Amino acid sequence: MRKKQFKAESKKLLDMMINSIYTHKEIFLRELISNASDATDKRYFLSLTDSSVSASRDELKIRIDLDNEARTLTVSDSGIGMTAEELEQNLGTIAKSDSLNFKKENEGNEKIDDIEVIGQFGVGFYSSFMVADRVEVVSKALGSEEANKWVSEGADGYTVEPCDKETVGTAVTLYLKKNTENEDYDQYLNQYKIQELVKKYSDYIRYPIVMAMSSEVPDPEKEGEYITELNDEVLNSQVPLWRKNKSEITEEEYNSFYKQKFYDYTDPTLVIHTKTEGQATFDALLFLPKNAPMDFYSKDYEKGLQLYSNGVLIMDKCADLLPDYFSFVKGLVDSADLTLNISREVLQHDHQLKIIAKAIDKKIKSELTKLLKNDREKYEAFFKTFGIQLKWGVYADYGMNKDGLKDLILFRSSNGGYVTLKEYRDRMADSQNEIYYACGDSAERIALLPQVEAVREKGLEVLYFTDDVDEFAIQMLMEYDGKHFANVCKEDFDLSTDAEKKEVEKKNEEAKDLLDKMKGILGDEVTAVKLTNKLGRHAVSLSAEGYVSLEMAKVFAQLPGGGNEVKAQLVLEINSEHPLAAKLKTADDETLEKYTKILYNQARLIAGLNVENPTEFADMICDLM
Ligand code: ADP
Repeated sequence: MRKKQFKAESKKLLDMMINSIYTHKEIFLRELISNASDATDKRYFLSLTDSSVSASRDELKIRIDLDNEARTLTVSDSGIGMTAEELEQNLGTIAKSDSLNFKKENEGNEKIDDIEVIGQFGVGFYSSFMVADRVEVVSKALGSEEANKWVSEGADGYTVEPCDKETVGTAVTLYLKKNTENEDYDQYLNQYKIQELVKKYSDYIRYPIVMAMSSEVPDPEKEGEYITELNDEVLNSQVPLWRKNKSEITEEEYNSFYKQKFYDYTDPTLVIHTKTEGQATFDALLFLPKNAPMDFYSKDYEKGLQLYSNGVLIMDKCADLLPDYFSFVKGLVDSADLTLNISREVLQHDHQLKIIAKAIDKKIKSELTKLLKNDREKYEAFFKTFGIQLKWGVYADYGMNKDGLKDLILFRSSNGGYVTLKEYRDRMADSQNEIYYACGDSAERIALLPQVEAVREKGLEVLYFTDDVDEFAIQMLMEYDGKHFANVCKEDFDLSTDAEKKEVEKKNEEAKDLLDKMKGILGDEVTAVKLTNKLGRHAVSLSAEGYVSLEMAKVFAQLPGGGNEVKAQLVLEINSEHPLAAKLKTADDETLEKYTKILYNQARLIAGLNVENPTEFADMICDLM
């Protein structure tokens, strides 16, 4: 019998499969099962319209058989089958397959990456050659008397010849490769491994996937001894949880599904189960975890949702389905609009996928909005864990997405607890023109800032920005509901009346020589030394002039490569009412220098900045004492 050659493109792909160093070789099983399922679908649908085709759903199943001695794994179905011509056409060429498009684009570029793409999306049948060095396909087509056998040992071609087969359908037998140092092929003969793979990739195939499972049972004839018994077991659950009606699913079912599938010990905070029809038709089942996964803050963390096409897993982590600010969301999407054989590049440009991603983004936002409204405690707990992501979202999108997110972010406030921007806005006095905030390491520390205390004493609410990202995020927002944001620690922040302002101005003029002298002592450390009336009972503070606030400067300073050039312009402010101000006027030059340095360093400490020479600072205080 003459060996036939594969079509050129198929041959190339086959070569890649055979020599694949791709780690997810196990997906071959998913591919075979999904082919079997498709073929079964076709037969079933024919039976609906053609009475000569008998096939009740109950009869239709997919079988897996393991033979440890022959080292074979067989997947058989009672689907539509293939004639000799079809065997040749379908298995001799894959030129029609979508997954080949990426190959064309990557001609001559045989990087591991390409192989990964193959593994990720499958080229169906050909993936068998990742684990087998001989593949036999025995098939009897529906309505045909004769059966045929297709055999290939890889790239050198294949043969097709008639054979015996009683029932309609197809059996694909893989002769598994021998174990190598790096690769364990024997595992595909292990019933538990196969059970696991079916659960993992094909759980929701609509037909039962049956395998004879062996188990040790007590020997009825000999007391105390065991015999091996083989029993057919259905390995897949067939109905995806997400395809069921919400009303049929208990909270317990959702929770255990989540924990099992996404390896968490804790029940999720929120379950979002949605069926969407319209521009895109899909089911989505999403979970907000209670805790951040161990690797969440490491660069190894990969966001993404599982992507199914009609119950068949096609991608484990589809990153394109989630925006970064929802990277903590776990779950899956199942859509009939996506094809199974789709390459990563194609997927990225997939219009349908974009529509789905957009709908999911919207859905998560609306569910979070609901949670915020209906269960504040739960929302705050969620926000403590993941809220910073949302704030980064407001920042990173340059405001593109801010509309959805800005009402989901919370800040600590001088009124106690967490507030939304809307709550703050609704409470604002009519006379208040800006949203006040101050930055620091903790709400407790911020509350003690002299400037904050002074604003609070006027009965006004101040937002406490405790996360690095906070101030950057609101800079992107620019304003909320017509109100701009004002940092109460900025030099130009001033709530005093015109008369009060005039008075301070006058005092500054009178003390000009003294203040200039002090500025001279501090040199480049500050841009000015000023008298002020906005410090309440406190003597000094530091405020920033211009765009960069103290907190922003701190964040920049921490950036790798030291964003040190971005420095805040500091102004040393001295309370004009404080007894100390009077004392400065009478001090001799030597004392003034000491006082100035001490005051400046005190102000740095209050602002949460470090003192550059703590020893000198401590010595100066001791001298005075
Ligand atoms: P795809 O399934 O993406 O088309 P495959 O390489 O997996 O690519 O299969 C090629 C073709 O071979 C299928 O489209 C189908 O027509 C046929 N085929 C594969 N497996 C079976 C099967 N078990 N029963 C019937 N036809 C099959």
